[in-house]
Amino acid sequence: MIYFTFGTKMTMILICRAYMVIFLRFLLILFFLGGYIGGTFGQNCEKNWMYYEYRKSISEEAKLKYGIDVPIDKIQVDFLGLPIGVRYHYSKVYRIGDRPTKKVTRKNKRSKKQESFLLLEEAYDNWIKLKKIAAEDDIILKLNNSYRSYITQKALYQRLGRKLAEEPGYSEHHLGTTIDLYKLEAESADFLWLLRYAFDYGWVPSYYFRVERHIKQEAWHWRYVGKLAAQKFKCAWEIEINQKIWRLKELYR
Ligand SMILES: [Zn+2]
Repeated sequence: MIYFTFGTKMTMILICRAYMVIFLRFLLILFFLGGYIGGTFGQNCEKNWMYYEYRKSISEEAKLKYGIDVPIDKIQVDFLGLPIGVRYHYSKVYRIGDRPTKKVTRKNKRSKKQESFLLLEEAYDNWIKLKKIAAEDDIILKLNNSYRSYITQKALYQRLGRKLAEEPGYSEHHLGTTIDLYKLEAESADFLWLLRYAFDYGWVPSYYFRVERHIKQEAWHWRYVGKLAAQKFKCAWEIEINQKIWRLKELYR
């Protein structure tokens, strides 16, 4: 039989308590981590009821006004409360107005003139993040276009026609959250990278994966919609996005 002295018993109790505390902390970390991972990656695909009535009304309106059939699950709502994935008269309900904006400025190498690209603050901040994280993987993203006023869009529409430009009032470029990337093609390592990571920063290729086909399928056109809406967009187009990623992976890794 083993006898413990009082001092040994106390030491053992203290050691047991210390292990208990470590174990409980471990359980607590697991609990929060599980919740975070579940909330970030798991549940968002299931929340199809979010803005359901609003998305339904947008889908019905598109059918009625423009004769286009866009299923409700292909329509999302961005962080400004505006629809994504369907023809919509943005300028009727939205003005960039006095919302906080920031400008990306750079010198044009050819013309030597200063160029600037206006974006809403949220879009600007997430553009800077995206650009930085892409550069770490040797993907150099450059802006070619951002905000366009109604007047600028009107001139563009008159010059290019309805197959290449969106009708004034309907362009996502009116929002201050949409960019065109310089020389970004659908068959490229850059597009593969964006399809893998840009959703995590709230960006979606809103003219590339789209039910409507009245305008060109543009790989260079990306819209900042906020992280939740981007996740929803990714869920809605999951099969098509994965197919594209698999095809590009064979070429670019
Ligand atoms: Zn565009």
